[in-house]
Amino acid sequence: MKRRILIVDDQKGVRRLLEELFKKDGWEVHLACDGKEAIARVDETLPDIILMDMKMPSMNGLEASQKILARNNNQAILMMTAYGEMDVVQKALEAGVRKCISKPFDILDLRETVKRMLD
Ligand SMILES: [Mg+2]
Repeated sequence: MKRRILIVDDQKGVRRLLEELFKKDGWEVHLACDGKEAIARVDETLPDIILMDMKMPSMNGLEASQKILARNNNQAILMMTAYGEMDVVQKALEAGVRKCISKPFDILDLRETVKRMLD
């Protein structure tokens, strides 16, 4: 069965880039543009991993991750933060986010990180 990834980012360019990358690798890719949409998509798609942007309008990545993890603390989430946001990183990890990666990131590093998180 294909591994499923949910990519959550308010920037269309980022969503497109990551969608292309993971589709090429054979993943089933789902997309959401903010935290609220992410929460709805999780129930529909049951992703193996969620790639979650931090800064988004309507509901940010930290709040969305907290809500998702409150319902399923086994959900693997990788959060994309801005460089230097150490307070946010700490809060995310405390909430149960598995890992944080700071933007801008090398997409090949990101791909490796995602793979390693699920192995
Ligand atoms: Mg953003």
